[in-house]
Amino acid sequence: MGAMKETMGFQTEVKQLLHLMIHSLYSNKEIFLRELVSNASDACDKLRFEAINNAALFEDNTELKIQVTFDKEARTVSIEDNGIGLSREDAIEHLGTIAKSGTKEFFGKLSGDQQKDAALIGQFGVGFYSAFIVADKVTVRSRRAGLPVSEGVEWESKGDGEFSVEAIEKADRGTQIILHLKADEDELLSGWKLKSILTKYSDHISLPIQMLKEEWDEQAGGMKATGEWETVNKANALWARSKADITPEQYNEFYKTISFDFADPLAHTHNRVEGGRSEYTSLLYIPAKAPYDLWDRNQQKGIKLYVKRVFIMDDAEQLLPPYLRFVKGVIDSADLPLNVSREILQESRDVKAIREGSVKKVLGLLEDMAANEAEKYATFWKEFGQVLKEGMGDDPANKERIAKLLRFATTQSEGEAQTVSLADYVGRMKEGQDKIYFVTADTYAAAKYSPHLEVFKKKGVEVLLLSDRVDEWMLSYLQEFDGKELQSCAKGGLDLGALEDEQDKETKKKVEDEFKDVLKKVEDLLKDRIKEARVTLRLTDSPACIVADESGVSEHLKRMLKQAGQNAPDTKPILELNPDHPFIQRLKIEKTQFEEWVNVLFDQAVLAEGGQLEDPAGFVRRLNMLLLTVKA
Ligand code: ADP
Ligand code: MG
Repeated sequence: MGAMKETMGFQTEVKQLLHLMIHSLYSNKEIFLRELVSNASDACDKLRFEAINNAALFEDNTELKIQVTFDKEARTVSIEDNGIGLSREDAIEHLGTIAKSGTKEFFGKLSGDQQKDAALIGQFGVGFYSAFIVADKVTVRSRRAGLPVSEGVEWESKGDGEFSVEAIEKADRGTQIILHLKADEDELLSGWKLKSILTKYSDHISLPIQMLKEEWDEQAGGMKATGEWETVNKANALWARSKADITPEQYNEFYKTISFDFADPLAHTHNRVEGGRSEYTSLLYIPAKAPYDLWDRNQQKGIKLYVKRVFIMDDAEQLLPPYLRFVKGVIDSADLPLNVSREILQESRDVKAIREGSVKKVLGLLEDMAANEAEKYATFWKEFGQVLKEGMGDDPANKERIAKLLRFATTQSEGEAQTVSLADYVGRMKEGQDKIYFVTADTYAAAKYSPHLEVFKKKGVEVLLLSDRVDEWMLSYLQEFDGKELQSCAKGGLDLGALEDEQDKETKKKVEDEFKDVLKKVEDLLKDRIKEARVTLRLTDSPACIVADESGVSEHLKRMLKQAGQNAPDTKPILELNPDHPFIQRLKIEKTQFEEWVNVLFDQAVLAEGGQLEDPAGFVRRLNMLLLTVKA
């Protein structure tokens, strides 16, 4: 047999992963067994799926199972499955590289700080390579289902940067992973120990996990294998069991095997839907932490689709809308055909019903959490709130429910993290206030110190501070809440409604007359840059600010559109002047430097609003010129 042995190097990222894992996951080392058993189970799922169209792959052995054994003399632990197996090419590709999308970006993010990186690596998923946490050599013997007995492969590595592959004969299809334990891992050479790890982490695996039965042997004074196999897990799909039979720990462990996450989830919802349009079971989780690729709307992984317990596909993106892409879990349908494809999923009415039902369950879970577990909900909001906001536009049917789940920092919050719901805001609106006021900016600080807020502070009116990238977009779908209109503080002629008293109105009238000439001159000077100049009572400390006209697009939105490379409408802002401010008073008498004053005021207003100057050097020159006129 031409058992050509070849040695190859790991992909750079694999080397990094191995290094990091061995050094940072040591305290969590038992997870290697969970990962290897989960791979064995995936391999059996894949075989079952491929065999739907090609029954010959079963090779007359349809009883899928996983067997875990150990050998005290050789100091090895072995995990064996009769699943789909690996060809030589598969072994080189799947056990020598990491195929996950975003791998490069992920490794770019690692800080070198072991503790931080260990948490990150948990989100990324360690998989097969976790074998090297406990083993200093790993041997994989495998044959892909359907290939001849002579086309088995033996893959071996010491986890030091290289691996070898060699052709072998293997009678049974499937994969055996042999771990040559490190010197101090003798603890794992015990049936009791392995069994306890398996029941802790892998009880929910739907295939039988078998170990050799052991009995007390008087003569040897120890446990001895009887030669009989026993199944050590429950061996039925966790989601198919009744809720009452599942402990919180089991729910959490199941989450970890499907989510690439090390931490416990925040919450879950487990439902069996019968009757009606479709029949299915869903088990959906809300993670406690955002994954590294949450921002990628196309990167939807999380929902595994099963049909009558047969695994069909990962990342079934039709089952939940993108704004719920943080949800992880399993959906098992009783109606879909086993050979369902992504294309069919897109069209299927059953899938539509599952999707609608699942969205309701997730929103219900969040509503529950918001009502009864405020602290948990705050964690959720911090991690995933920005994504949920996308739902305001994505899911018109549930807009009202989503609006109630939104949280905002306001002028009355202690800081960015202290948020309120719209219902709370409305509940504490001032007498006479009939609108929900907000201000948008690029950052929380820019929003908090926006000049547009001055009059609201004076009148003690609470204002929502919006600084997430999605806010402007979301606001176009959130025009009112509970019958109250949402109103930007930076837009229009600031109609404060009943909050404005008679005296305000009189004052306004008076100053408008007083500044008539000044305003005319300002408009002439800035005619290319502003639509209009007017006096305002909205400012108390700042001399000027710019606002969008009622129909216009806010300056903040225009900037965002430009950044996104989109066409921003070319509307001009309105310049508002504070008649009480000494600078503005001065405009009435200023003769020689009127132009400098006006330009500086305008540029300041742009800056205060978070904008960029067209001519920053010109601003600095003019400002310095004016400063020089100040007497020492
Ligand atoms: P993941 O399970 O997330 O894909 P792993 O690192 O755990 O990542 O495994 C890498 C790949 O190696 C798997 O996707 C699979 O193709 C292959 N593999 C691992 N274990 C087995 C096995 N027991 N049988 C067949 N293929 C396997
Ligand atoms: Mg895996």
